[in-house]
Amino acid sequence: MIHYKTSDEVQLIKESAQILGKAHGEVAKLVKEGVKTSYLDKIAEEFIRDHGGVPSFKGYNGFPASLCISVNEVVVHGFPSDYVLKDGDIISIDCGVFHQGFHSDSAYTYPVGEVSKKVLSLLKATKESLYLGIEKAVFGNRIGDVGNAIQKFVEAKGYTVVRELVGHGVGKSLHESPEVPNYGKKGSGPLLKNGMVIAIEPMVNLGTRNVVQERDGWTIRTADRKPSAHYEHTVAIFEDRTEILTTHQYIEENFKF
Ligand code: MG
Ligand code: MG
Repeated sequence: MIHYKTSDEVQLIKESAQILGKAHGEVAKLVKEGVKTSYLDKIAEEFIRDHGGVPSFKGYNGFPASLCISVNEVVVHGFPSDYVLKDGDIISIDCGVFHQGFHSDSAYTYPVGEVSKKVLSLLKATKESLYLGIEKAVFGNRIGDVGNAIQKFVEAKGYTVVRELVGHGVGKSLHESPEVPNYGKKGSGPLLKNGMVIAIEPMVNLGTRNVVQERDGWTIRTADRKPSAHYEHTVAIFEDRTEILTTHQYIEENFKF
């Protein structure tokens, strides 16, 4: 069942998303060679709690941390750890905030130091595909229009789209209906209606689209161990517009590439 939000509820999600965006911005200042990924998690959790929020992911189905930190061939759901970032890595940081009864959810992939041109292009294309998906996430379109735009764009560049993990509705629960695949046919799937709030989150691989789950029960990595990128926004659909509720502004003020 899809929960359609009132404009007051969307406003609450937007407030949650401001805390989330600023938490991402604090983390962005620290993404560099020599930093332990568990330290990024600690900074994010402190910032969220200091601003009256609760990290959405911590304890979600037993997830142990506030951030999903997915390095290189890890697609999503990696754990923060003692791993120390090194030159040439890419790191995807996914975070959610629960505040005033509502979640918000967004992710960003960063290059660490000097990253190969090939991998930088993957990041740029994945980020661009997110915005192309959002362009299609308008009232009267269908979910398949969003996934189709993402898939068409990244596959034309020779990349592949992960099928096993998808975007989702966002609201009082972190993951609500509908599912929002990053692939699909135009004109298929649920209609986009007034008050829908969805997370759009392309996961794009340099090599094969196939993924495997590590034995920790969470970490998803590419089957061929080639890199994968992930960007995410939570957006609200209104009859007259689509609004991006989350923000990468604080990331991009603090991290340029
Ligand atoms: Mg997320
Ligand atoms: Mg999500």
